[in-house]
Amino acid sequence: MKMLVMGQSPSYDDLLKRIAELEDLLVTNASKSYYQEIKESEERFKALSEAVNEGIFISKDGVCIEANESGCQLFGFTRNEVIGREVTSVFGEAYKMLVRINIKNKFEGKYEAVAHKKDGTQFIAEIRGRNYQYRGEDVRVTSVRDITEFKKTQQALIDNEEKYREVVENAGDGILLGNLKGEIIEVNQAFLSMTGYNRQDLLNKHIKIIFSSEAIKDKPLRFDLVNKGQSVLVERDLVGKDGSLIPIEMNSKRPHDDYYLAIIRDLRERKRAEENLKHKNEELKAAKEKAEESDRLKSAFLANMSHEIRTPMNGIIGFAELLKMEQEREGKKSDYLDVILSSGNQLLNIINDVLEISRIETGQVKIHPIKFDLCEMLKELQVFFAPAVNQQHSEFKIAIPDSENFYLYADEAKIKQVLTNLINNAIKFTQNGTITVTVAKIADSVSISVQDNGIGIAQEFQDKIFERFRQVENRYSLQTGTGLGLPICKKYIELMKGEIWVKSTEGQGSTFTFTIPLTT
Ligand code: ADP
Repeated sequence: MKMLVMGQSPSYDDLLKRIAELEDLLVTNASKSYYQEIKESEERFKALSEAVNEGIFISKDGVCIEANESGCQLFGFTRNEVIGREVTSVFGEAYKMLVRINIKNKFEGKYEAVAHKKDGTQFIAEIRGRNYQYRGEDVRVTSVRDITEFKKTQQALIDNEEKYREVVENAGDGILLGNLKGEIIEVNQAFLSMTGYNRQDLLNKHIKIIFSSEAIKDKPLRFDLVNKGQSVLVERDLVGKDGSLIPIEMNSKRPHDDYYLAIIRDLRERKRAEENLKHKNEELKAAKEKAEESDRLKSAFLANMSHEIRTPMNGIIGFAELLKMEQEREGKKSDYLDVILSSGNQLLNIINDVLEISRIETGQVKIHPIKFDLCEMLKELQVFFAPAVNQQHSEFKIAIPDSENFYLYADEAKIKQVLTNLINNAIKFTQNGTITVTVAKIADSVSISVQDNGIGIAQEFQDKIFERFRQVENRYSLQTGTGLGLPICKKYIELMKGEIWVKSTEGQGSTFTFTIPLTT
């Protein structure tokens, strides 16, 4: 009989041959039933080892003498290549020694080593060996499993767990986990910083310890609702380690069968901000009331003062006119009186404008509509402005639909003042030109425009001139007005439910147009 020599690698064929020899021997020498028993147990082992997915190897003195199909596939070898191979040859350099020692010491626990396949690729192997007597000889049966994927998943889980811990630890809100008895089993740093407690103060204590008993009575912890799957959001106070009350918002839920989760937001900052805002709002309200009061006072003062100044102004102007008439009768001419008169009139206009704007702004101006003839009004204005038009070497035209009369139902005095203002400006800013007033009916309203071919208004000023105290700065500007004429016109027109706008080109002239609804 051919014996197996230690250290030599017997081929699979050798082994088969040897089994056949043994069978012969057993058939001739041993009892039939004993041989049958061994054969059956061998087959059972073979069937079992082929049925499992892990690699199973039998080795003797560090050399593989048997392997199942999964074991061969695991390393990418054929059976022939496996049998007779040194066990350590399939492990990485750093692991050979470990494998050798474990075999030598007959170590029967699990261990891991990096294994190499035939094609050079590596995997992490989980190895477990057992020593047996096999046909009277000491053999080692070793199972080998590729746990590379398992390791990766395990690592991913560890990474995830670390990430989750990091998120919980770095969360701005306090986070508490409690078991089903209501005892705190985990707490994050934010909660400890917020309350001043240490982990040991809280772990395994009932969550009630962070609240005062009155607070619990006042707003009970709603485990009942949380157990029904609801998330409970409550604003309450908790007691810090130093006994101080900390206002918080607590969101409790039961995300898992085994534990409760409470997310606790510190409201101290928010409460402070709310308090500040309330304070600021009160200050603002007081300031607004003060400003409104002083605005009322200012308007009243202006109205009074304007009235008070207008009375003596009228006196001065009136008597200067009388004096002038007397002097003219006597054939004398007084330039001084002319200055007094024109300055007085200018001042009176300013006072009137200021008075009017403050009356409009305090809601004292009302509209009194009456039926009047617009044609007649325009003709009067033409006569009134004739001297000023002549002085500027300009002409004044009226274009009105062909009827003799054009009746309007509106506030006559205010329409007259708007027209006076627009025509006055047109004359003032036009030399050797034409001022045309055009009236047209458009749907339910009348549109009146005052057009000139004077100096015009730069684009950027066209909206601003309707604001209070605005005057356009240009070299032609006479700077004699108050900048209140157009704002007053706009307010009047708006009070009469109309609109006013300007179209102008610098150097070519301006057209101011306003509309008034036609009501009969
Ligand atoms: P003011 O009493 O100063 O004339 P207004 O409100 O009537 O005030 O006009 C504001 C400014 O708009 C004027 O100072 C002038 O610069 C400009 N403006 C008004 N009408 C005309 C116009 N027809 N042509 C050129 N500029 C004008």
